[in-house]
Amino acid sequence: MTAKVIDGKQIAEQTRAEAAAGALELKARTGVVPHLAAVLVGDDPASAVYVRNKQIACEKAGFKSTLHRLPATTTQSELLTLVHSLNANPAVHGILVQLPLPKGLDTTLILDAVSPAKDVDGFHPENVGLLQQGRPRFLPCTPAGVMRMLKVSGLETSGKHAVVVGRSDIVGKPMAALLSQKGADATVTLCHSRTQDIGAFCRAADILVAAIGIPQFVKGDMVKPGAVVIDVGINRVGDKLVGDVDYGPASQIASAITPVPGGVGPMTIAMLLQNTLAAAVALSAAGS
Ligand code: NAD
Repeated sequence: MTAKVIDGKQIAEQTRAEAAAGALELKARTGVVPHLAAVLVGDDPASAVYVRNKQIACEKAGFKSTLHRLPATTTQSELLTLVHSLNANPAVHGILVQLPLPKGLDTTLILDAVSPAKDVDGFHPENVGLLQQGRPRFLPCTPAGVMRMLKVSGLETSGKHAVVVGRSDIVGKPMAALLSQKGADATVTLCHSRTQDIGAFCRAADILVAAIGIPQFVKGDMVKPGAVVIDVGINRVGDKLVGDVDYGPASQIASAITPVPGGVGPMTIAMLLQNTLAAAVALSAAGS
C-alpha cells in the first residue's frame, strides 16, 4: 500500500484564507483589525525566522502584526512590564512570546503573565484547563492543526486507537486531550521517554502521532498496516528537514501520512491566525 499524502500546505492555505475572510468580515462589521503582537527576546536565528513567518502570514491575511524585539540581556521585570502593557492595550488581540526564551528568564512565569484572553498560543494554565474540561477557548496551534488536517482529510477519529508519542505541554499532552475529547472520541495512549516497548504501542495505533524530536524515530515496522501517521517532528539533519517518522518505509505501510516539510508545520501558523481572529472577535464583542 502507498499512503495518501496529507497535504498540509494546501489545508493550511485554505485555513489562512478562512481567517482572512473572517478578518474582512470583522473589519466591515466593527472596524476592528485583528492584531497580533509578537515578542522576540535575544538573537536565536531560528526564532527570528519563525516570528518573521508568523508576521508575513498575518500581513497576507489582512491582520496587523507588531514585533517587540528585545536584547538577550532583557531582565525578567522588563519583559513582564512589556507583557503587562500588551495585556492592557485594547488595540492588541493576540500576544505571542516566541520560545525558547534566553537562559535566566523564567518561561513559566512569563507565559502565565499573558492575559488568557490574548493567549493565542493556548499555553496559559486557564486555557489548558478549559481544554481539559472540553470547553476550549484557544487550542494550542500545532495539535489544533493536526485535528483540522484529520477532519478536512475525512479521516475518522471516533472509536479509533490513537497513540501519541511525546508528552510535551505544547504538542503531546494537548494532542492527547483533543483526540480523546467528545466529538473526536478516540481512545488515546500517550507514550513518552519512559514507555517500555514503544514499538508495540505504535503497532497497535490506528492513528499514530509522532512528536518526539528525534529524526526518523518511528520506523516502518512500528506502523500498523493501514494506519494514519501524523509526523509533527521537525529536525534539521545536515541541510535537510526530516520528521520523527522514517517516511519512506512508513509511507508504504500507512494508509495516510503527513510529509516533512509540508505536513503539520504549515498548519501551526494557520491555526495561530484562527486563534488571533477568535481573540479579536471575542475582545471586540466584549468591548462593544
Ligand atoms: P519536547 O522535547 O518538548 O518533547 C519531546 C517528547 O518526546 C517528550 O515528552 C519525551 O517524553 C518524548 N521522548 C523523547 N525521547 C523519547 C523516546 N526515546 N521515546 C519516546 N518518547 C520520547 O518536544 P516538542 O516541543 O513536543 O516537539 C516535538 C517535535 O515536534 C520536535 O521535532 C519539534 O521540532 C516538533 N514541533 C513541530 C511543530 C510544528 O509546527 N510542526 C511545533 C512544535 C514542535
